[in-house]
Amino acid sequence: MLRESAGISVALSRLHRVTVAFTRAGFEVARVFGVLGLYRLAAPGGYYRELVVEEYASGLPVVNRVASRRYDVVVVAPASSDTVAKIAHGIADNVAVSAASQALKNGIPLVLLPSDAPWVKTTELPCRVRGERCTGCRACIPVCPTGAIVPVEGRVRIDLRYCTGCARCVSACPFSAIRCFERVAVSPSPLDLENLERLERLGVRIARSPSEILAALEELGLCTPRQGSL
Ligand code: SF4
Ligand code: SF4
Repeated sequence: MLRESAGISVALSRLHRVTVAFTRAGFEVARVFGVLGLYRLAAPGGYYRELVVEEYASGLPVVNRVASRRYDVVVVAPASSDTVAKIAHGIADNVAVSAASQALKNGIPLVLLPSDAPWVKTTELPCRVRGERCTGCRACIPVCPTGAIVPVEGRVRIDLRYCTGCARCVSACPFSAIRCFERVAVSPSPLDLENLERLERLGVRIARSPSEILAALEELGLCTPRQGSL
């Protein structure tokens, strides 16, 4: 749902000022899935159009703006199960959960797109080398623009600290040993469900899909892009 969420941010940014705030982990995930470029389009810089990546205290200005009711809405998308748990229990230790917590305190609508919910059946994995297929031929190494593919014990592996999710390595491998964005089945834990129910009781709008974020914003009276423009 990260790619679709990024697309929605871009479409919304044509109609509204969009601030994008990443936790450190969220930023890494966006890089690995190759969607940072989309988020940079949504928040190219300028007043309230910043892209903030949380380092020490760097998320504070955004959180303070939420506390000052400067935003019409706060959207956390996608929200991992630990983010959902933290918001549900009032823990505010990063920019995403602090902004959400301030939204709840100050009566700003909060829309959440959970990544662990009964209706979410699959998720995508980052790029990876299937060890059993890799022959160690190294054909993939020179095509990687970031040097993320490293030889290890006669095969290669992808160092996700450097991967940008460009997927060039997939077609470079003659043995189909590299997979990017493979879908795997997921299911939420009982605790995830309990936390979601708790948030709904607190008045948080839970979106079941990225397009439901737009529906929630429309309900709030915010102009939203037409589906065709996403
Ligand atoms: S090109 Fe494929 S088989 Fe060759 S080293 Fe890379 S992943 Fe392994
Ligand atoms: S070529 Fe493969 S390993 Fe390198 S950045 Fe692109 S997706 Fe990641």
